[in-house]
Amino acid sequence: MLAGAGHANIVALRILARHDIAAEITLVNDGPYAWYTGALPALVRGDVAPEAARIDLLKLTTACGAEFYNAPVSRFSAGQLFLETTRPLAFDILSLALGGVAAQGGVKPILAFLARMAVWQAQNAPRIGILGAGASGVELALALRIRLGGAARIFVAGGELLPGAPPRARTIAAQALERAGIGRGPALPAGLDDVIHAYTPAPEILSAPNLLIAGESHVFGTGDYARMSPPLPRSGAIAVRQGRVLAANIMRLLRGHSLKPFVPPSACLAIMSLDSERALAWYHGSTWHGVLPMRVKRYLDEKWVG
Ligand SMILES: Cc1cc2nc3c(=O)[nH]c(=O)nc-3n(C[C@H](O)[C@H](O)[C@H](O)COP(=O)(O)OP(=O)(O)OC[C@H]3O[C@@H](n4cnc5c(N)ncnc54)[C@H](O)[C@@H]3O)c2cc1C
Repeated sequence: MLAGAGHANIVALRILARHDIAAEITLVNDGPYAWYTGALPALVRGDVAPEAARIDLLKLTTACGAEFYNAPVSRFSAGQLFLETTRPLAFDILSLALGGVAAQGGVKPILAFLARMAVWQAQNAPRIGILGAGASGVELALALRIRLGGAARIFVAGGELLPGAPPRARTIAAQALERAGIGRGPALPAGLDDVIHAYTPAPEILSAPNLLIAGESHVFGTGDYARMSPPLPRSGAIAVRQGRVLAANIMRLLRGHSLKPFVPPSACLAIMSLDSERALAWYHGSTWHGVLPMRVKRYLDEKWVG
């Protein structure tokens, strides 16, 4: 039972479909699509259609020989997954990839965020604040400048700009914000029309290194839904890697074998778009920017959405 079409469950589903496992697989998600936040800035800029920023889950599960339920999950208990709109589903193994705790004013669900953006577009000179100066906040601010035009007032607030990125990447991001006329500071000014929370709060649920939820022997928790010790960045790149170990561990659990630990990478390649043509990328201490990183980002985005 795969609950939530988070990255790890999608990766695991694709892998399990290629193996001859004696198990029925069901995916449950609170909507027919898995929206991809990595493509949200392109969606905001108007560079891609919604179809290019989401995975059609009925199509995916059909191709993988799995069943799909479009329903919100409420809780699980003693081999039963409880749904808000229909009868509970029995499971032997459950994997929860329901995403992070929803931040008030956050970008998820993406459909609700797009509806908010339509309101700003209808205003003459909207004043929009973005809380969070990490890659997602900066990327979103730059994308909104393109979508809303020069009259919009856009501000980004957060401690450090791109925490964890090399100094050169932070300088390039600061210059891009300045060129785009985006205000930046430790706090947002008063009198804004809307505030976007561009971060994911830390989850309370704890997963062991083998991705099993603490105290559970058949229930996995991955991605932004569960934290590991020490905590990992809340990113799709980490969740995708967890998906490979999740698939292996589901198969190992079915065969009665011991489970593998998830070993986090020492660093992940980070790529954030600066505009429709250029992106900024960093890995360990190295930084690249321009057309080439954007090509790589487009390739990775298109590959993920399939
Ligand atoms: C603006 C922005 C841009 C980002 N860009 C990037 C990027 O470029 N690269 C990157 O690596 N990370 C990026 N991130 C981080 C990334 O979005 C998350 O870390 C990543 O999506 C991991 O989430 P997940 O796989 O755990 O779950 P999610 O991708 O959030 O998926 C959770 C799924 O579960 C479903 N769901 C939720 N609740 C329920 C319920 N009760 N019942 C049933 N289904 C439910 C949701 O509809 C969704 O399909 C970005 C974040 C933001 C805010």
